[in-house]
Amino acid sequence: MIQSIDHLGIAVRSIDEAVPIYETALGLRCLGREEVASQRVKTAFFDVGGVHLELLEPTAPDSPIAKFLAEKGEGIHHIAFRTDDIKGQLEQAAAGGVRLINAEPFEGAAGKLVAFLHPKSTRGVLTELCALKPGENAH
Ligand code: ZN
Repeated sequence: MIQSIDHLGIAVRSIDEAVPIYETALGLRCLGREEVASQRVKTAFFDVGGVHLELLEPTAPDSPIAKFLAEKGEGIHHIAFRTDDIKGQLEQAAAGGVRLINAEPFEGAAGKLVAFLHPKSTRGVLTELCALKPGENAH
């Protein structure tokens, strides 16, 4: 079952330049930064009432974020829903006719399991499903 919006992913060319904007213009505090090697991105997180903003900067030319920036420029890249059953959620999406980018969840930022649904199937919105790994608590 989908439990909440976990985070919004925002593609940026430079996290170092983007973080101060969120900190000074909106008064948000950066909770941390992380590099996700599997996605070839650097991330910075902000908490907004339990929903995170996840700034994403590519670390390689073949990063999915590099391709997004080249095609669309900076902006909202994806919406992520938290679920307590990522495999069941993927099966439900596939059964509903949605094209899956990842048929199997993989390890994303903050040690969560994540999988993406294709934006062509979700009215242009790249959609991420994410779940805590079994045995880990929310933070
Ligand atoms: Zn995400």
